Amino acid sequence: MSRVLRTLPEVEELLPLSPEEKEAFNRVSPIYPFSSTEYYLKLAEKSPAVRKMVLPSLEEIDETIQSAGEDDPLNEERDSKVPKLTHRYPDRVLLITTNYCPVLCRYCMRKRNWRKPIFTISESEVEGALSYIRSNPQVRDVLISGGDPLTLPLELLERILLELKKISHVEVVRIGTRIPVVDPERVLKEELLSLIEKAEKVWVNTHFNHPDEITPEAKEAVKALLKSGAPVNNQTVLLKGVNDSVETLEKLFRNLQRIKVRPYYLFHCDPVKGVMHFSTPITKGLEILKELFKRLSPLAIPYYAVDGPGGYGKVPLLPHRFRVEKGRYLFESFNGRWFEMEDR
Ligand SMILES: *Cc1c(COP(=O)(O)O)cnc(C)c1O
Repeated sequence: MSRVLRTLPEVEELLPLSPEEKEAFNRVSPIYPFSSTEYYLKLAEKSPAVRKMVLPSLEEIDETIQSAGEDDPLNEERDSKVPKLTHRYPDRVLLITTNYCPVLCRYCMRKRNWRKPIFTISESEVEGALSYIRSNPQVRDVLISGGDPLTLPLELLERILLELKKISHVEVVRIGTRIPVVDPERVLKEELLSLIEKAEKVWVNTHFNHPDEITPEAKEAVKALLKSGAPVNNQTVLLKGVNDSVETLEKLFRNLQRIKVRPYYLFHCDPVKGVMHFSTPITKGLEILKELFKRLSPLAIPYYAVDGPGGYGKVPLLPHRFRVEKGRYLFESFNGRWFEMEDR
């Protein structure tokens, strides 16, 4: 396990900061704390994009920039059925197992929770969530999220996964984690890998945002997960100054596919207070996507999705243009030529 660093002196032992970065660290971290693994902080030395994702910046507390944001735009705290469980879509539920992450990503949509005490889901909450799932046969997909569920004590993760294995209508169990990116070594633990194999239904959703994060260590972690039988999909967030360009995303998605990770979602950045400086217009996101469709197979292109403020859920967006005229569909193809088809 990579050491977790929280203070300025700890950071400066590994990564010399500029005077501006130091000032930002000192002024921002009392409001939005800093945390990183040693491994991920070392990546920041060579990667300006990683540096931006991990080091505090004064923009986080700039009132003019942040005033348009909300603490919880998606109303996550309201849609909860039983404690720690959210059931928004008919066939799938979201289970929050902890709020702990070893790396605090500066663009985090749950920044509002950073100064709350660290929790791990309790025995009775696990029991409550499991009995809700047992008595709701329409639930076929359980998302285990957090915080980062791969930081849970292994016995707890084991209990959750093996109980879900026994519920026959649960066909898919997804673990949402950034550990392969921020502490890949931790994934290589034999006990964890054999648990994933034994639990049978597990899919892993990773969270790579930039090609610089796909290191030899991260590749090893992904390879081990695939070997344990878990399909690996990736969720990216569109972030200004980090990955909001065709070249960066093309490279990210190609390199993910090369290591057999399927790009699943490219999330539009939610309007969260403290994160607004990472926001890219939807129009720009669609332009980037349109260009990607000219260059890549859809097998390497994620759904670009907005998450409706207020808990409406996710809407995937496609850049393709078409219109309907007198019972005929007119489509624009990848190279800009139009063709038509009758609607029959
Ligand atoms: C994102 C999300 C899911 C999973 O949605 P998919 O589109 O299937 O990945 C489930 N429940 C909630 C509350 C979510 O926010």
